[in-house]
Amino acid sequence: KSGFVSIIGRPNVGKSTLLNHVIGQKIAIMSDKPQTTRNKIQGVYTTDQAQVIFIDTPGIHKPKHRLGDFMTKIAQQTLREVDLILFVINAEEGYGRGDQFIIDKLQGIKQPIFLVINKIDTIHPDELLPLIEFYRKKIEFQEVIPISALQGNNVTTLMEQITEYL
Ligand code: GDP
Ligand code: MG
Repeated sequence: KSGFVSIIGRPNVGKSTLLNHVIGQKIAIMSDKPQTTRNKIQGVYTTDQAQVIFIDTPGIHKPKHRLGDFMTKIAQQTLREVDLILFVINAEEGYGRGDQFIIDKLQGIKQPIFLVINKIDTIHPDELLPLIEFYRKKIEFQEVIPISALQGNNVTTLMEQITEYL
C-alpha cells in the first residue's frame, strides 16, 4: 500500500510537529509513484505494510495578493490529487476564521479527510466531544482522531488509520 497525504491546517496547529514525530530522523525512501513537480515531498513513512508520502500544500491560506491567488489554485489542485487529507486543528484554540477558510477549500473534495485534533494535552477530556460535534457539522470527515503531536499520543493510531485508507 502506498499513497500521498497532505497535512493542512492554519499556522501553529502543530503540522510540523506531527510530521517530525512521524518521520523522525528516518531517511525517506522514494516511492515509484509518479511525483508532482509542484509539490515538495516532506517525508516518507515506511513500514512493512505501507508507504505514506507526505507532500506539502503551499498556498492553502488566505490570498493577500495575486501570487497568493495563484498559490491557492495550486493548493486546491493538490488537494484533489492526493489520496488522503489530514485537516489538523488546535484543540486549545478551537474554531477560528483560518479553519473556516480551509473548510471552504475542502468543499467538494472526494478524497477521505481526517479531522486531526491536536494538542489534546492542553484541554479537559470533556471539551473534546463538543469540539468534534462542532467540526462535524461543517464538513464530513471519514475519521476523527485526537492526538498530541508533541507527546506522541495516538499518533500510532493515526498512522494505522491512514494505512487502512490507502
Ligand atoms: P505548524 O505551524 O502547524 O507547523 O505548527 P508547529 O508544528 O510549528 O507547532 C506550533 C507550536 O505548537 C509549537 O510551539 C509546538 O511545540 C506546539 N505544539 C505542537 N503540537 C503540540 C501538542 O500536541 N501539544 C502542545 N501542548 N503543543 C504543541
Ligand atoms: Mg509548520
